[in-house]
Amino acid sequence: MQFGYSEICLAHDPGSRHPESPDRLRAIRERLKKKHGVEYAESDPCTVDELSTVHDRAYVESVREFCADGGGNWDPDTTAVEETWNALRQSAGLACWAVETALEGATGRETPFSIGRPPGHHAVPDDAMGFCFVNNAAVAAQQALDHPDYDVDRVAIVDWDVHHGNGTQDIFYERDDVFFVSLHEKGLYPGTGAVDETGEGDGAGTTMNVPMPAGTDDVGYLAAIDGPITAALTDYDPDVLIVSAGFDAHRHDPISRIRLSTEAYALMTDRLRAFADGIDAALAFVLEGGYGLDVLADSVAIVHETFDGRDPVEPSGDLDDTAESTLEDVLDAHGLDLDLP
Ligand SMILES: [Zn+2]
Repeated sequence: MQFGYSEICLAHDPGSRHPESPDRLRAIRERLKKKHGVEYAESDPCTVDELSTVHDRAYVESVREFCADGGGNWDPDTTAVEETWNALRQSAGLACWAVETALEGATGRETPFSIGRPPGHHAVPDDAMGFCFVNNAAVAAQQALDHPDYDVDRVAIVDWDVHHGNGTQDIFYERDDVFFVSLHEKGLYPGTGAVDETGEGDGAGTTMNVPMPAGTDDVGYLAAIDGPITAALTDYDPDVLIVSAGFDAHRHDPISRIRLSTEAYALMTDRLRAFADGIDAALAFVLEGGYGLDVLADSVAIVHETFDGRDPVEPSGDLDDTAESTLEDVLDAHGLDLDLP
């Protein structure tokens, strides 16, 4: 893969006890050193104008002033330092690089993955929360839709971070040009993302929430991808597919109770890659959460290896009843009629 990375993202340091630390990127980079076929690219940072395409300009300016004043705790979880302003603009810029690179035709071993931080998917139009200031994937999706060189009418975002992508959902909730899918742990922060949150107005039906019960394993997540998610994405037929790739649903991540193995990330990657290839959609990955440094690094590495020729190994076992009934509810909420795998 091509990884979008910048040292500027390391300077956002919310303190040694904060789980969203620069060590996350250092751990990923260290692991990728030993891998074949890894390339790095840099990008320009986003401007205030670009960030303001999905955020309120007054909010963006208030973040700039907050950082210029030295930062501090925006809320109990979300901490900025002076350098956070440049890091968040860089993180959004890397996400835009990833989507633009995919639109330019990078596929297969050239598929782009932006590993910026701070992450983005909790950032709502007018507020920071959950370690996120700017919604990187949303800024990149909007830039794809607005890009003069590419004829992009529809973008899909699949968010497999273990937390609900409430910010991305809010930004596009009443729009039909972005289809947002969130696969997350039911009941976890921030508490939104129920099955019946499916979009409103022009966006009715273009938000899909899959709140999986604590304890769900690889079989449950793959059934979600192979069942309702692929069915909905097939109907939607996006020009661009962005994966909001958090790795905190791993069984060894310290802050969740979903029980994915590292292999699950290879399998989900392989499924989404096959889907994107099949409809000729541009495919890009954008880093979100993931707080167990070893398993974060392992999981990013296995996404890379999946594009470098490694064949993923299918899980064994049956779909658990609670997970199955959640997926049946998702199918019902979206008027989809199909048998679960
Ligand atoms: Zn998360």
